[in-house]
Amino acid sequence: PRTTRRPERSAVVDLAAIRHNTRLLKGLAAPAELMAVVKADAYGHGAVAVARAALEAGADALGVAHVSEAIELRRHGIQAPLLAWLHTVDTDFGAAIGNDIALGVSGGEFEAIAEAARALGRTARVHLKVDTGLGRNGFTMQRWPAAVRAAASAQEAGTIAVVGIMTHLGAADEPQAPENEEQLAVFQRAVELAQEAGLSPSVCHVANTPGTFDAADMAEPRRMLRDMVRVGIGIYGISPFADRSAADLGLIPAMTLRTTVTNVKEVPAGQGVSYGFRYRTPEATTLALIPVGYADGVPRIATGGPVRIDGVSYAEVGRIAMDQIVVDLGRPGLAGEEGRNLLGAEAVLFGADENPSVREWSEAAQTIDYEIVTRISPRVTREYI
Ligand code: PLP
Repeated sequence: PRTTRRPERSAVVDLAAIRHNTRLLKGLAAPAELMAVVKADAYGHGAVAVARAALEAGADALGVAHVSEAIELRRHGIQAPLLAWLHTVDTDFGAAIGNDIALGVSGGEFEAIAEAARALGRTARVHLKVDTGLGRNGFTMQRWPAAVRAAASAQEAGTIAVVGIMTHLGAADEPQAPENEEQLAVFQRAVELAQEAGLSPSVCHVANTPGTFDAADMAEPRRMLRDMVRVGIGIYGISPFADRSAADLGLIPAMTLRTTVTNVKEVPAGQGVSYGFRYRTPEATTLALIPVGYADGVPRIATGGPVRIDGVSYAEVGRIAMDQIVVDLGRPGLAGEEGRNLLGAEAVLFGADENPSVREWSEAAQTIDYEIVTRISPRVTREYI
């Protein structure tokens, strides 16, 4: 019997990989600053631990979507500059201002932020967000001139300080897409209009992870990198590009999703596997049961995703259930006496050396790598190494 017990299933997060990736991205962006995007619990990796690792490796600021995510970081003693950019009418701007959290401003929240600042007798630090073409949040260029004028008068009144201007790219993962250049040109115009209105934001920022990599091949990389990059997926060691792996980019995947084989059995040809009997063993074989399922964040649609057991990769077979998946080991005779062989062997769905890779799971699930790691559920223990 083993003397040390590990979590039954865990997402092992390698903080040295987070630090490596942060340094690599910071090197690409320099002299621009680096904001590590740690929203959605750091894309499933654990926001507090990732934030600390990224800051240790030189991240200058942290970015999240929600004010509540930023407050959670403050509650854990994180003092670095923080920006939150997606709000609702129920967002507690007073708490944000009180916790020194900078706020992205896209439109309707402008008044509520100024009001909260006035009530506290403080100045809200804001980054105006311009929609340069993505069609999500941010002021449209039509509303931008009025927005910068309103911001300039609120700044004069002392309720807000415009410290930044930001936008978000829609196709930076496709470097050749003409929209990238178009968005950069619109952003440049937006910055000029803000300056003409009397604003002098110190940090203009555009690039996400793919944008940061794209800059290397651009004639004028600074138009992309500006004063700061906001990088998420690269920090986690995942490639945002369809045609490049993490290794191609020099990134190290930080998360390994692992558990252990929990049941091994010999079955005849024609054995149905999992709900709907969608898989029937073509020959007599050995099946291994792996105790993770869609409740853990393994997408139900991803039948056929890879699982590495004792160094060998197998395909998952049959429907993915809530708690478990089944692997066909491909030949009979592997279960051993009473199914003891392989019982407790480590089963890895994806891991640091891309063997298997998150990409194989995202392809099986017809999604992107972001979604695979972000949806690993709280039921899976985060283990930090
Ligand atoms: N900036 C904004 C506004 C975002 O919403 C995101 C994430 O979607 C990022 C930056 C980081 O993007 P990426 O993970 O591709 O680096």
